[in-house]
Amino acid sequence: MTGVPHLIVTQDNEFWFTAAKQGRLEIQRCADCQTLRHPPSPACPSCRSFAWDTVQSNRRGRLHSWTVIHHPKDPAFDYPLAVGLLDLAEGIRIVADIAGVDHERLEIGMELEVGFAEHAHGEMLPQLRLPSGGAA
Ligand SMILES: [Zn+2]
Repeated sequence: MTGVPHLIVTQDNEFWFTAAKQGRLEIQRCADCQTLRHPPSPACPSCRSFAWDTVQSNRRGRLHSWTVIHHPKDPAFDYPLAVGLLDLAEGIRIVADIAGVDHERLEIGMELEVGFAEHAHGEMLPQLRLPSGGAA
């Protein structure tokens, strides 16, 4: 795709994109106070510690809110584009586009899961989808 910039990968978010390429949703956790945070950042917003590790999310959550974007168009996505905020079971919130759900069926509180979709340059980004398989 032309006109699509590369992701900006830093020492703070590299773990996240590496896990995404392997189909895992990792959540950063403060190694001192255990507070989860997303998106990745160098310091804990609760205790300011720079020590962190990660936990693996089960990728399930409930739709907190959403919108359907018509304009402006980013060349990395198809439009109209539904974008949602998902409250993960682990207690953090993630933003991603929503795929495979009629926009008329979107409803606050509905269960969705985080999958991954390949975008420009082979990079993997999160994508919200209807849960696969049985109940969580
Ligand atoms: Zn902390």
